[in-house]
Amino acid sequence: MDYYSSHISKLIEELSKLPGVGAKSAQRLAFHIIGMSSEQVDSLSKAIKDAKGNVNYCRECFTLTDGEVCPICASEKRDHKTIMVVENTRDLAAYEKTGKYNGVYHVLHGAISPMLGIGPADIKLKELIKRLESDVNEVIIATNSTLEGETTAMYIAKLIKPTGIEVSRIASGVPVGGDLEYIDEVTLLRALEGRRLL
Ligand code: ZN
Repeated sequence: MDYYSSHISKLIEELSKLPGVGAKSAQRLAFHIIGMSSEQVDSLSKAIKDAKGNVNYCRECFTLTDGEVCPICASEKRDHKTIMVVENTRDLAAYEKTGKYNGVYHVLHGAISPMLGIGPADIKLKELIKRLESDVNEVIIATNSTLEGETTAMYIAKLIKPTGIEVSRIASGVPVGGDLEYIDEVTLLRALEGRRLL
């Protein structure tokens, strides 16, 4: 049943596929977009296309970045012998916002989830193991405290242990089921400082 023009319906349909956007929000956004000037709409669609077309994985840590290597991996001021493992680029951003972490990162782009059929080969895990061939002192596992995050942490710890590299897990000050990006900086710092060796 089409209440609107087919173009508006299509726009609502596409917008409602976005995470956190329900049917009502999609409708509201669609009408907002229709009300925007042509220049604004061009600018929005260009931003979407540019982001999709120009963002790559950093060669080192696999975060999303513009160039071949992200600014963190390219920086000589960072401690390249400490690697914090996070599930996604948003979690990396959350730790960067604290301004207190001086090491580098490794972004897995997911977590192991037998229930969803996501195995170790589906995340950037072998890329992490490859990085450990260089000079690394410590790997800090900062995956979420969800079932998937904990499963991933244990799996990584088991892999790294035999190498003799120190493996630690951030403290469980992070609420269970909490997405790292929604946790305030103080809690994140506490979780980092209270990390325990595995
Ligand atoms: Zn990087």
